[in-house]
Amino acid sequence: MADFKVHLYGAVATSSLAALSVYSFGWTGPRQTLVLFLVGVAGGLLPDIDCPKSNPIRGFFALLGVVLAFGMTFSFVGRVPLPGLALIWALVFVTVRYGIFVLFARYTVHRGIWHSWLAALAAGLASANLAYHAVGLTAWESWLAGLFMVLGYLTHLTLDEIASVDLQGRRIKRSLGSALKPFSLERPWTSLAMLLLVLLLGVSAPTLAPVLAVADHYGLDVAMLRARLLGGGA
Ligand SMILES: [Zn+2]
Repeated sequence: MADFKVHLYGAVATSSLAALSVYSFGWTGPRQTLVLFLVGVAGGLLPDIDCPKSNPIRGFFALLGVVLAFGMTFSFVGRVPLPGLALIWALVFVTVRYGIFVLFARYTVHRGIWHSWLAALAAGLASANLAYHAVGLTAWESWLAGLFMVLGYLTHLTLDEIASVDLQGRRIKRSLGSALKPFSLERPWTSLAMLLLVLLLGVSAPTLAPVLAVADHYGLDVAMLRARLLGGGA
């Protein structure tokens, strides 16, 4: 297993390259580019969410708690007095940071479902949803955030997989294939739950229209793509 520093630098490398690319395409301004870079780096650290005792994961839950607490509280402003708002904030934060964290620590297995393509997709869709519904970004910005999350996530899985191959090239460690896998075959029910999560997040995701428009702009045959994706028989 690649260690924390390797994951951090790996994610910084791919995410900065991708951030510079989208900036040079003229897709983002300087501030959005920086945020996307940070999302990519977060994605590069996220798969080890199944090692709940590690500091980055505790930090991640604290951050998630803060983001969700503000997201929830903002929707009550004007309807609930300030002490009530503070209470809602604290309640959401404690539920996420401690409640959900404990559930996670209890039910996750290291290198289980969180080290899979399916989880990368779920994390990307969750980011797009969060950016759109909680932070209030545009659909296009939200999809970019989702894309950077997936990029960072896959960087992590690839680095874990590389670390399982002996660099001499002969001895292959037992952990080979435990990071970069489509889904977790040993735990079919967990995989099914993750698939369900992907579908739910897909339904609540922001519209794909701006993404398709950009694809169209770059000459992709969108009509054909749509027909293939939706089975509309082209
Ligand atoms: Zn890992």
